[in-house]
This record gives sequence, C-alpha cells and structure tokens, in this order.
Amino acid sequence: MRRLTQYLPHTITQMYKPEHKAIDLRNYENYLVFTPENIIIIYNSIQDGLDKYGNHYIVAKGQESNYYLYFVHTLPAVTIHNNVKITMNEIIGRTDTSTGNARGAHLHFAVRNLEWQPINPLEYLHLFNIEYTVKQ
Ligand SMILES: [Zn+2]
Repeated sequence: MRRLTQYLPHTITQMYKPEHKAIDLRNYENYLVFTPENIIIIYNSIQDGLDKYGNHYIVAKGQESNYYLYFVHTLPAVTIHNNVKITMNEIIGRTDTSTGNARGAHLHFAVRNLEWQPINPLEYLHLFNIEYTVKQ
C-alpha cells in the first residue's frame, strides 16, 4: 500500500480549488511524510533555503507518474539531498511545526505536470489507488 502520511487513513481536510491548487492531508506535527512512488529530489528547503511558502518543503520528480510533487510543511529528512533517488514508501521528512490552521497540522500536497501546470492531486491518488477520506 502506497502512503503519503503517517496519519492513516489519509484524510483530506481541504480540497483542490482555484484558490488552493493542492490538497491538505491531516498529519500531526512531527509525524512522518512518505513518498508514494520512486522519486528524485529536485529541491529541498534545508539545502536550498526557504522561499514563498515561509516554511519547509520538498519538490521531487515522480519516476513513475512523471509529475512534479510538492510536499509542503515538510521538514526534509537529513538524508534528503538534491538529485538523490528515494524509493516508494520511504520517509522523506516530517510535518513541520507551526503549520497548524483551524484544521490543524497537515501536509499540503501539490502536483504539477511536465509543463508545471497544477493538476488535481486526487488524480494522482487515483493513479496509484491511494485510499483517502474527506473531512472538510
Ligand atoms: Zn494547503
């Protein structure tokens, strides 16, 4: 079974919409974040510095889906470096502290295609038969 978060079942607390081109998945602070497919890391905020998100995140290229994956509010694991390959279901980091909103700490998960256009991450979950529930 492929997974994204330590918190199971995968629970979506905010869906994809024009003003939120991602899904939020419940995951308590310091809970583990996993990659659901084989990936190559192309950006991590520890190595490359913080930017517009204002907190830690990882960007990776999916080797099976061919999509770019954004794991936001994720403190990269110390072993995560750019150009490193990570195997499906390996730990890539932990949910950062101070990411809570009214819905609590979460993984903000965004997916982009080869043209860097946002796509609905639900398509990604369906692609890999990743089960989830929705609690908005
Ligand atoms: Zn979000």
